[in-house]
Amino acid sequence: MKPPGGWRLIYNILTMSVIDKINNSKRALFTFELLPPLKGHSIERVYKAIDRLIEFQPAYINFTTHRNEITFRERPDGLLEKRVIRLRPGTIALAAAVKYKYNITVVPHILCGGFTKEETENVLIEMNFLGIDDVLALRGDPQRGTKTFIPEKEGHPHTYELVKQIIDMNHGKYLEETLIDTTQTHFCVGVAGYPEKHNEAPNIQTDLEYLKQKVDSGASYIVTQMFFDNNKYFKFRDECRKAGINVPIVAGLKPISNLNDINLLPQTFHIDVPNDLVSEIRKCKTDKDAREVGIEWTTIQSKELIKEGAPGLHYYTLGRSDNIARIVKASF
Ligand SMILES: Cc1cc2nc3c(=O)[nH]c(=O)nc-3n(C[C@H](O)[C@H](O)[C@H](O)COP(=O)(O)OP(=O)(O)OC[C@H]3O[C@@H](n4cnc5c(N)ncnc54)[C@H](O)[C@@H]3O)c2cc1C
Repeated sequence: MKPPGGWRLIYNILTMSVIDKINNSKRALFTFELLPPLKGHSIERVYKAIDRLIEFQPAYINFTTHRNEITFRERPDGLLEKRVIRLRPGTIALAAAVKYKYNITVVPHILCGGFTKEETENVLIEMNFLGIDDVLALRGDPQRGTKTFIPEKEGHPHTYELVKQIIDMNHGKYLEETLIDTTQTHFCVGVAGYPEKHNEAPNIQTDLEYLKQKVDSGASYIVTQMFFDNNKYFKFRDECRKAGINVPIVAGLKPISNLNDINLLPQTFHIDVPNDLVSEIRKCKTDKDAREVGIEWTTIQSKELIKEGAPGLHYYTLGRSDNIARIVKASF
C-alpha cells in the first residue's frame, strides 16, 4: 500500500536536515554518535550498533572524524621513525552508506585540524554529490602529546572560519573565485558548545563570545560536550540566551561504562563527574556494575532533560550501543 503523499514524502521526512527536524518536533529528538571503524575493520560493526538502536527511531546519526596522528616506530637500528597515520578513515563514505541503508539523516563531522581549506572544500563537494546536507563543524584537538592546536598552513585556526566556508558554498561561493555558474549547496551546520567551558578558553564569557561568533557565522544549532550534572546544561542554556545565542542547544550525554571512566573522562574531555556519581561508582566491584550505575544515572538525566525542554539528546556511544538502548527505552 502506498502511504498518503507517497514514498518520496516519507523519504523526505526521514532525511530532513537537522534544524528542520528540531523545528518540526514537539519533543526532544533522540540522536547518537558513532565512530568509523579502526582501519582494516568492517563496517558491519557500525551496522550492528545501529541495528540495536534503530527501533527507537533516531532522528539522525552523527559520525566522528579522526584526523591523522603522528606516531613513532622503533627501527631495527634503535632510531625512531616518524609516521603519520589516520586510524579511523572513511567518515563520509560511512555516513553515505548508512544514509542509504537506513533512509536516515546523517551528520558527518568535519574538522579544521589536519585539513587545508581546499581539502575541506573537496570533502564538502563529495558530501553534496552524495546527498548529505548536514555537517557538524569542529576545530579538532591539538595533536596527541602537544598542548597547542596548530592548523594546517592553508587550514582554519578556528571553527567559525570553517562554518563561514561552508555557508559560502551555500551561496555558491567557492575558494576559486573565477568559477562561474557554481552550484549552491544546502548545508545545515551544527557546532560544539561547552557547558563547563572549553579547556583552552580563559573563562566562560570569552568562550560564549566565540560560540556566538560560530552561530553568527551561520551555525543553526549547538551540540554540547558531555555533562553529568543537568544543572550545568540549564545554566549554560541561560547564559547562551543572555549572550544572544538563540539557536537550539542539543544535550550531549555519555553513560559511564566502566570503573575507570570517572578518572578518564575528566582527563580527556575536561568535565566534572559529580560526587554522588563518583561515590556510586566507587561502590562497584566490576565494570559491569559500573555500567549499570551509568545506565541508571544517564536515564535520570535524560528524563529530566526531556521534561525541561531540551530539543534533542545526543548520546556519545563510543561504539557501544546496548547501554544506550536501555536508556532510550526507559526515557523517551
Ligand atoms: C559534540 C562534539 C563532537 C565532537 N566531535 C569530534 C570529532 O568528530 N573529531 C574530533 O577530532 N573532535 C571532536 N570533538 C572535539 C573538538 O574538536 C574539540 O573539543 C576541540 O578542541 C574544539 O573544537 P571546537 O569546534 O569547539 O573549537 P572552537 O570553537 O574553534 O574553539 C576552540 C577554542 O578556541 C577558542 N576560540 C574560538 N574562536 C576563537 C577566536 N575567534 N579567537 C580566539 N579563540 C577562539 C574557544 O574559546 C576554545 O577555547 C567534538 C566535540 C563535541 C562537543
